[in-house]
Amino acid sequence: MEQPTFEVKQPPEIEQRVKELRRVLQRASYAYYVLDAPEMEDAVYDQLYRELQDLEAKYPGLISPDSPTQRVGERPAAQFSSVRHNIPLYSLENAFNLEEFAAWQERWQRVAPVEKFEYVCELKIDGSALALTYEHGVLVRGVTRGDGVMGEDISQNVRTIRTIPLRLATDEPTAVVEVRGEAFLPLDVFQHINQEREQAGEALFANPRNAAAGTLRQLDSRIVARRRLDFFAYTLHIPESGDRPAPNFDQQNSNRQNPIAGELHRDISSQWESLEFLQSLGFRVNPNRQLCRSLSEVQEYYDRWSTERLELPYLTDGVVVKLNPLALQERLGFTQKFPRWAIALKYPAEEAPTVVADITINVGRTGALTPTAELRPVQLAGTTVSRATLHNGDRIAELDIRVGDTAIVRKAGEIIPEVVRVLTELRPAGTQPFQMPTHCPACGQPVMRPEGEAVVRCINASCPAILRRALEHWASRDALDINGLGEKWVQQFVDRGLIHTVADLYDLTAEQLMSVERMGKKSAEKLVGAIAQSKTQPWSRVLYGLGIRHVGSVNAQILTERFSSVEQLAEAKPETIETVHGIGTEIAQAIYDWFRVPANRALIDRLKAQELQTVGAASSSAPTASKLAGKTFVITGTLPTLKRDEAKEMIQAAGGKVTGSVSAKTDYLVVGAEAGSKLEKAESLGITQLSEAQLLELLSD
Ligand code: NAD
Repeated sequence: MEQPTFEVKQPPEIEQRVKELRRVLQRASYAYYVLDAPEMEDAVYDQLYRELQDLEAKYPGLISPDSPTQRVGERPAAQFSSVRHNIPLYSLENAFNLEEFAAWQERWQRVAPVEKFEYVCELKIDGSALALTYEHGVLVRGVTRGDGVMGEDISQNVRTIRTIPLRLATDEPTAVVEVRGEAFLPLDVFQHINQEREQAGEALFANPRNAAAGTLRQLDSRIVARRRLDFFAYTLHIPESGDRPAPNFDQQNSNRQNPIAGELHRDISSQWESLEFLQSLGFRVNPNRQLCRSLSEVQEYYDRWSTERLELPYLTDGVVVKLNPLALQERLGFTQKFPRWAIALKYPAEEAPTVVADITINVGRTGALTPTAELRPVQLAGTTVSRATLHNGDRIAELDIRVGDTAIVRKAGEIIPEVVRVLTELRPAGTQPFQMPTHCPACGQPVMRPEGEAVVRCINASCPAILRRALEHWASRDALDINGLGEKWVQQFVDRGLIHTVADLYDLTAEQLMSVERMGKKSAEKLVGAIAQSKTQPWSRVLYGLGIRHVGSVNAQILTERFSSVEQLAEAKPETIETVHGIGTEIAQAIYDWFRVPANRALIDRLKAQELQTVGAASSSAPTASKLAGKTFVITGTLPTLKRDEAKEMIQAAGGKVTGSVSAKTDYLVVGAEAGSKLEKAESLGITQLSEAQLLELLSD
């Protein structure tokens, strides 16, 4: 009799999504493992993979044996002979944060409830796994991971790696051991290889991991030898006689007693001891390992290495946490794909794919209409991101970002998340290209696009959205710092017609404020007090608060050091303003233009009459020049308006550091036209790139 099925019926759009995800993942996986030329960031791959896994878990009827979730790696390529691994090379389960790690801990503890336990925390080296077989103490075979069951015999190439001993440092030469570890390319070697490839007109390697994998599968081992691959050993296997089938060991060996194995099984009972023994055998073992006895110790290790790893001369992408006692490892065993006793705890990704649920338009204080992507929330660089800037209509058109698309969102450092590209393969049917509005969404007036600018602006001087933003900016912490004047009140004051310019704030009375919904007497008095208090804020903050284009808090401070009154600045010609270190032509012109608008002059007169500070050198309570403290910048190429020295001085004035070459320590690369090798290097290291406009935005935030 047919069994009834209780599967959740999947909607057709889910089935479609699963199909598309599989196609995209399969292609990416082929490009990554077989061609050594990835098509997407690992984090993007991981996230799409997770989505597929989740959908398959929810709708088991959709699981198919050819799904990428059902296998460990990719089939070996044809150039080398395929060999079966003595023991399969499993992948590692991933945890993307400590909650997932804690859930994993709970899971294994349910299977093996033990009171006390120990983990070995190791760095997860971003390279390529190798399985090395030693017979009678001599290296006889080196095999890539392949699909975990079958790998490629690359013994010839493995022998060129100087940190892999050809003979083990042991007095027991009859041992049969298998050593596993990670072959990797140190960062400087990687850069050097790519430079050479560039000169030779060859395609560049996307990252050190793919360069290592590509190098290991070079047919000419002389090239491999030149490339200085390195190797960290992390697993020791000693096949005992009659233990597991060992098809690669010749019959004689696999049946023979293995004296060292016998010895070792008495002496080595933990992963920690294995690592020490591997070291004594002559292997390089990563020194940054640690024994941890609790979740909080694992967390400490993970947190510490989240920054220290950036100083290492090789790439790591997480930490691997393994249960230390081998007996416990044996007890827990393996799933189809992973050991149950180990997990990779990855560092937060800076890029992730997610769905663009909507595109909304925000009107800024300069009237600029900025499109924003409203996203399906996604974890990025340790935070949940649900919105990303789309910059302007040109950018949307260039990337062809549509509502419904799966887009890749990037967030690095403190930069606002942005959409970097769209996975068009995952685009649902019936989407339309996005059109920027022709009218301001706040006031309904037609918008305009000044010539040569990418930005569309509302030019209605009484547009309520512009006024609201101007007030919010005026009250913000680095400007007049008016405590209690938040978005909510600003909206109400503007909507009720209480305020038309920032100067009107200073005429507000507590009685007037009390007419606003939910504003009590106490709050009204407090707010009037806070507004009055802001009159003591220095001139540099007043200047910043005016919201002149490109005049951020740092520029305002620099300017007020030179122009000690508003009159001096108002009368200055652009050429004079430009002589101030760190102030470029565009900024100087913007300031000059601002003071030529009669309404702005009238505003200044009113502010002066209301006794706001419009004279005096920058004081110590001025915004601090430390917003970029601890950040390292490199500038490359020709910037559209700033000279390099100007950009450098502006960064330094904001507390940042500017260096000449890109390294893992670089936080931002400022990119201009005709950028050269620095850009490639930054790309390979995943360093955030900034245009001049983005740099100015960062400085003026
Ligand atoms: P993995 O790389 O996430 O983790 C397993 C590997 O970690 C092991 O095989 C081993 O080589 C390595 N490792 C490093 N240090 C280790 C240590 N101390 N102890 C134990 N192992 C250590 O998993 P995977 O199955 O090799 O590869 C899947 C990953 O490949 C995915 O997470 C994805 O990011 C990437 N991938 C990317 C693309 C792409 O298009 N970008 C495509 C396919 C796969």
